[in-house]
Amino acid sequence: MLLQCPNCKCKDIGKIGTSQYYCWGCFIEFSLANNKLDIFQVEEDGTLSSLNDLFEDEYVEAKL
Ligand SMILES: [Zn+2]
Repeated sequence: MLLQCPNCKCKDIGKIGTSQYYCWGCFIEFSLANNKLDIFQVEEDGTLSSLNDLFEDEYVEAKL
């Protein structure tokens, strides 16, 4: 499976869970499940905040 970061397009992606990935390029987390993309920013205190609003449907449609 070829993965690239939905944010910075880099391919330096680490797998951190069943369908969860971490981008070493821009330090975001994203998960891909059931063709749904969820993107999170990791805050300094370790909590995740959703970035889905920033990406809308553009990327998902382009990918499918
Ligand atoms: Zn990235």
